[in-house]
Amino acid sequence: MHSLLARAAELGAGYRAGLAERPVAPAAVDLAALRSSFGGPLPEAPTPPSDVLEQLARAAGPGLVATAGPRFFGFVIGGALPAATAADVLAAGWDQNGFNAVLSPAAAAAEDVAGAWLKELLGIPAGASTGFVTGGQAANTAGLAAARHHVLAEAGWDVERDGLAGAPRVRVVASEERHATVDRALRLLGFGTRAVEPVKAGPQGAIDVEDLRKVREAGTGPLIVCLQAGNVNTGACDDLRAAREAVGDAWIHVDGAFGLWAAANPDTRALLDGVELADSWACDGHKWLNVPYDSGFVFCARPDVHAAAIAYRAAYLTGAGEVSGMGDLTLESSRRARGFAVWAAVRELGRDGVAELVGRCCRLARRFAGKLAEGGAEIANDVVLNQVLVSFGGDTDALIRKIQDDGTCWLGGTTWRGRRYLRISVSGWSTTEADVDRSAAAILRLAGQ
Ligand SMILES: *Cc1c(COP(=O)(O)O)cnc(C)c1O
Repeated sequence: MHSLLARAAELGAGYRAGLAERPVAPAAVDLAALRSSFGGPLPEAPTPPSDVLEQLARAAGPGLVATAGPRFFGFVIGGALPAATAADVLAAGWDQNGFNAVLSPAAAAAEDVAGAWLKELLGIPAGASTGFVTGGQAANTAGLAAARHHVLAEAGWDVERDGLAGAPRVRVVASEERHATVDRALRLLGFGTRAVEPVKAGPQGAIDVEDLRKVREAGTGPLIVCLQAGNVNTGACDDLRAAREAVGDAWIHVDGAFGLWAAANPDTRALLDGVELADSWACDGHKWLNVPYDSGFVFCARPDVHAAAIAYRAAYLTGAGEVSGMGDLTLESSRRARGFAVWAAVRELGRDGVAELVGRCCRLARRFAGKLAEGGAEIANDVVLNQVLVSFGGDTDALIRKIQDDGTCWLGGTTWRGRRYLRISVSGWSTTEADVDRSAAAILRLAGQ
């Protein structure tokens, strides 16, 4: 076991060492070949663990994408920080179940401390509960479950006991540019996507507060308002203070999967003005905090509501609902002790380092936009955070394929307001000015062909 774990760490480290110079995506992936190198039928006989590890490394190698490297700009992806990666390796060795403080007092303590640190960094009230969930999707689902509990309890309805059939109708108001995971959360929670009363988005993709006010005033009854910090295309953040004023005491849930991190830097904090006025918040760890997958956070201003919506009880579960109530705040029962990596990331960076990570990514996004604009590209958004939308006219998807095949960097495309764009997200700690310049040069060269 000892040499095996050491070998696994060594293989991971070797991969990391080559990341900056390997092509970002494998050229011409042959999925069938990949599948066959993982082997065919169910093995009948055992294999020595060390052989398994070597086979896995060999089989996976050609199909790995350098998302952890410095020139991956697709989706919103941040390569995991050194201490966070190492902490996750250690957590795998420890094999702790982050269910509660009986199963892992260490995991509970790390999450207590890391949760407090996160709230301070993000401008969330210190009294809020923190659930260490799998990511933004789970955080939106958990936050909206708390919202559902609260607005229906206020209307005299116990949704956990009686479900939604026959319940007072809940209004869900959200921007037309909300993230698709909000819709999925609404589906899973039994509201259905048709429950959404859409609000217009302004020119940069933030919610139109006047329209929000109008939509709110057009109806009555229990009300959940979904706001957003960090439009997935433009990076725009809703005006949270004005939105609170516009919706009175409705439950406000903020999807801040990556944009919430703007609060951790003094230069971008103003984008999150009023963040403390919300009732629940969703945030990712694996995007901008650069911790390994899967890692996200749901915060709730009312811990009792959070637990009432999500906790479950069984006679054999000693410790459930005690201490940090870990399993009462997340959608899983048994889970990986993901708090260790979060603790390690924040410990590694400190308040200054987190601010610097956020600030650097924003600065590099502006640099990217500047270089591409100099080369003749149109930049469609105000680059307020780490997101850049780029057009060269012409066949955008053909250009995206060329960029991906070239391998210098990787970015994806998006459709925003009816037009196709290259979509750049700078979210990783290891990206440098040189990486941005090299990537911009490659993009301009390919666009010029
Ligand atoms: C990425 C993202 C999500 C979903 O987060 P996952 O961690 O992928 O589940 C939700 N909302 C926004 C705004 C996002 O950018």
